[in-house]
Amino acid sequence: MKVLVLNCGSSSVKYQLFNMEDRFVLAKGQVDRIGMKGAVLSHTRHDDHKVKMAGEIIDHQAAIEYILAILISENHGVIEEREEIDAVGHRVVHGGEKFKDSVLITRDVVDNLQEFIDLAPLHNPHNIKGIRACHQLLADVPMVAVFDTAFHSNMPDYAYLYGLPYILYKRYSIRRYGFHGTSHYYVSRRARDLMEQDMEDLKIITCHLGNGCSITAVDGGASIDTSMGFTPVEGLLMGTRSGDIDPALVLHLLAKEELSVGDMNTLLNKHSGLQGVSGVSNDMREIIDAVEEEGNERARIALDIFTYRLKKYIGAYTATLGGLDALVFTGGIGENSPEVRERSTEGLGHLGIEIDQEKNYETMGVEGDITSEDARVNTYVIPTNEELVIAIDTEKIVKEETELA
Ligand code: AMP
Repeated sequence: MKVLVLNCGSSSVKYQLFNMEDRFVLAKGQVDRIGMKGAVLSHTRHDDHKVKMAGEIIDHQAAIEYILAILISENHGVIEEREEIDAVGHRVVHGGEKFKDSVLITRDVVDNLQEFIDLAPLHNPHNIKGIRACHQLLADVPMVAVFDTAFHSNMPDYAYLYGLPYILYKRYSIRRYGFHGTSHYYVSRRARDLMEQDMEDLKIITCHLGNGCSITAVDGGASIDTSMGFTPVEGLLMGTRSGDIDPALVLHLLAKEELSVGDMNTLLNKHSGLQGVSGVSNDMREIIDAVEEEGNERARIALDIFTYRLKKYIGAYTATLGGLDALVFTGGIGENSPEVRERSTEGLGHLGIEIDQEKNYETMGVEGDITSEDARVNTYVIPTNEELVIAIDTEKIVKEETELA
């Protein structure tokens, strides 16, 4: 079976085409700047043949059409015709309280997703656009939605409810949903494989540190708490998002700065985090360079907030899990930044966490065990692979449906 995995963002579509027999990635790439000047498709074939193509790509449908065209193109493609694509897996950010697992996409499912736009106004509309476009372009090819929220959907109520009037939960579904679920799921399973133990016996903390950052406590395979909340703003400091703040600050700032609700949203999502604190960059590489090479004081503060808060959550989740077997770093920062891994685990020997700095500084962008000899907790760097999880779920669900039919 060949599965096309799509991740549709506001102005981008990322794709990977899998051959599921050996889970081999035949081709991958992305379209950027959809609807803008200078839209471009970057495509990489399995033999590392790369091509970039500029064109006018007015919307998500045009982007997916472009992707399908390159997949079948004589010079750059990997299949002969569209019909070779057996199924499409879509990354969908928000599944609300309804979708606790991946699901075959039907008209009803799309209607439900439409209802959740309120919950994820920045993400779900683009996911739906991608689904609609595929329906137009690939007609009867079965599609599956894999949700970022699903892995967290079985958290206990005391972890997902806020200290607000309970009626607001009932009325508006206000609760912690958590995100990056597919990534936390993947790296926790991979840690289990590396430890060669049963998932049921393991207590794991997974740190997904990319442009967005979240940390999850995984007990016996299930997410029991996670740092992102009703929206992806809560929790750790991120590239441009604030993470945890006193909620009453929002009211104070609305009055002081005479901000609109929209301005406040932009402040919390786009002008805060590493960027807002440092004034240097939202990119961890530039923050670390500014600290180490220029002695930039605000970059130092941003890096300290980032790693201090991460350490605080690691401690909190070790407590809620009642012990810890493994700590996992993933995402662009988690996979590539030994500095962040070192600073956020410094002094955690009393929890059994101790990393070997030689192994730590050798492990960048690849899987690795960076545990020191004396540690009780295994620490791993594990590159995430959300696309593979989406492809596997898609194949499984489509096969089950075909068997039932
Ligand atoms: P992601 O969203 O997972 O693609 O992660 C993107 C982030 O990873 C970037 O914003 C960078 O801050 C970070 N990153 C990538 N490479 C490095 C590196 N070598 N050191 C520190 N941070 C990195």
